[in-house]
Amino acid sequence: MIDKLPLTFDLPASLYIHVPFCARKCLYCDFVSYPHSPGDERDYLAGLEREMALWAGSVNNQRWTLSTVFIGGGTPTCLSPGGLGEIISSIDNHFEVSPKAEFTIEANPGTVNPGMLADLRRAGVNRLSLGAQSCHDQTLRALGRIHTHARTVESFQLAREAGFDNISVDLMFGVPGQSPEDWLRCLEIIIGLGPEHVSAYGLQLEPGTPLYAQVEGGLWQPGGEDMQLAMYYAAVDALEGAGLRRYEISNYALPGLECRHNLVYWRNDSYLGLGPAAHSRLGNRRLANLNRLDEYLAALDSGSLPVLSQEEIKPADDIFETVFLGLRLAAGLNLERFQRRFGISLAGAYPGLAESLVTRGMLAIENNHLRLTRCGLAVANAVMAEFAPI
Ligand code: SF4
Repeated sequence: MIDKLPLTFDLPASLYIHVPFCARKCLYCDFVSYPHSPGDERDYLAGLEREMALWAGSVNNQRWTLSTVFIGGGTPTCLSPGGLGEIISSIDNHFEVSPKAEFTIEANPGTVNPGMLADLRRAGVNRLSLGAQSCHDQTLRALGRIHTHARTVESFQLAREAGFDNISVDLMFGVPGQSPEDWLRCLEIIIGLGPEHVSAYGLQLEPGTPLYAQVEGGLWQPGGEDMQLAMYYAAVDALEGAGLRRYEISNYALPGLECRHNLVYWRNDSYLGLGPAAHSRLGNRRLANLNRLDEYLAALDSGSLPVLSQEEIKPADDIFETVFLGLRLAAGLNLERFQRRFGISLAGAYPGLAESLVTRGMLAIENNHLRLTRCGLAVANAVMAEFAPI
């Protein structure tokens, strides 16, 4: 826990709020989330308000203006409608949300209703990220999701009726039992709904999760790397064919509707994260909040920020992270911006490396950006690892 704020940074224009509750834990999930109860919700909302007051109050001579807000989790929409309204009012009380801000909330299709969606839209939320994950009920059951595909379609339509004209749909491939045909059909169905944005991630089997144990125990036979890669490229082709341009390794959007909040992460820029387990990047410092709700609340009760750890980001790590994250973007790493930020060119920081990867066909340089080629995309992690500090 820390009592003093690290005030040697420019105020970031991006705010992330972590809501640490879910209706039920999904079988693959290792995010920090707890079962929801009205009492815990009340305590959490009071704590979050205090945390916002501590941060915003520390910069009282400056206006802290936000151009992106992202309420994620966990499942924000498992809070009561009044609870979600309280978070938005607290943000409005303590920060200045720019009129042109992108304001996203994550929603689980099993937990939305027309009144909630209308309230969110009225309160200024202008982007909904819907955790569909799959269009097949069998796959949803394998993942331990609480919703069915029919609920996804209904939630999507309700969101449109509530006035959301910027909806993102999350999908997952490489799920045990999911065939390549299931995946293609799912892409077609989601494209048919007409979302403005799609995130399509390969399932990561996280040690310690029930799904990991099931695979280890031989209950499921996961598809190999070749199948994952084929599913990845099927998504690229289907989504781009529908006009949703891939702008990041796993993210697709209609032109101009890329997620501005997530672009802050991929550009390795600053943001403030509030709530249990939230992380922040402020200038050259990284902060991690306490994970446990009781510890988070106790810190705030004693007037301290609920920060578990903070560290200074070493220049070599900062350079590597900026390259690593920049290469995730389809446009690539902005080389001019890199030089401005670090006072050294990429060629100066990594003599000969980018040129060698360009010669090997893994990277390309275009419009002063360094990006992965289609060939490099297939082995992206290996290419990015070449830039790791020794
Ligand atoms: S809804 Fe999301 S955060 Fe909650 S358990 Fe499932 S995957 Fe994890």
